[in-house]
Amino acid sequence: MYRADLHIHTTASDGVFTPSQVVLRAKERGVNMLAISDHDAVSGLHEGVKAGEEYGVRVIPGLEISAGGDKEIHILGYGVPCDNAALNTFLRDMKQDRIDRSIKMVKRLCDIGLPLSMNDIPVEKDAVIGRPRIARAMIAKGYIKDVNEAFEHYIGNGCPAYVERTPIDVCDAVCLLRSVGAVPVLAHAGLLKMDDDTFAQNLKRWMDAGLMGMEVYHPSHLPDQLEKWAQIAAENRLLVTGGSDFHDPGDKHGEIGQMLAYWQHADEDMERLIAAMEETKG
Ligand code: AMP
Ligand code: FE
Ligand code: FE
Ligand code: ZN
Repeated sequence: MYRADLHIHTTASDGVFTPSQVVLRAKERGVNMLAISDHDAVSGLHEGVKAGEEYGVRVIPGLEISAGGDKEIHILGYGVPCDNAALNTFLRDMKQDRIDRSIKMVKRLCDIGLPLSMNDIPVEKDAVIGRPRIARAMIAKGYIKDVNEAFEHYIGNGCPAYVERTPIDVCDAVCLLRSVGAVPVLAHAGLLKMDDDTFAQNLKRWMDAGLMGMEVYHPSHLPDQLEKWAQIAAENRLLVTGGSDFHDPGDKHGEIGQMLAYWQHADEDMERLIAAMEETKG
């Protein structure tokens, strides 16, 4: 039986646990299949896969590409290679873009009376910088009490210190994932601010580009959106995936294994995903 969580962040992007710590936590919570899916980074995968072998948890190498610019359309990839030159060039550019953008955000925070410097934001070698790291630095300075407050008032989309990343086209992200042999899946569709017609038109374009699945079981779809997204996935013959989007036990995201209680046909869905990964790998 698959007890899967296919959406997890680590210290390679904006999570607080290392890949090994995440795998151990998964094991402790009864999860036997885990996809590490850091934002725009594959640098945690090697350690994660190794830890999976050690702890007896199957670890799928994944990735979550931040596409859509400020529209935040995230594309998960499953079965991602760590050593693909084209993918690594793309990720290197995104990493630099995230640094440039953070410098601008830090400057904006200074301008609104919250002095901060890039030196206040620790980033491990090979890790990418994301807004939760800026939020944690603001907490350390005593400006705010939790990460949520940072997003609500200062660094959330549209807030005074928010700066957009260079937008990545969703179809380009999907094509890139397909070209490296990974399975592209639309993350947390319920968080998209799109009316149903616009969504349907976009979904068609993304599927034409090679999108293969939809993340139905995500905490943001609770309590009553699971059925809606399961139905849309079925109508479009998309693979169905699920995960907690775990980052930090204290934030608004989910806890590892949280979606297992809701995942209706987990074994069937996982078997289809695994077969698709085999096929796509080519
Ligand atoms: P970035 O990738 O740098 O644009 O930062 C966006 C990320 O911040 C999202 O993918 C979430 O993981 C995280 N995030 C957004 N809002 C919040 C929040 N209110 N609390 C904690 N994390 C958040
Ligand atoms: Fe995140
Ligand atoms: Fe996301
Ligand atoms: Zn995520």
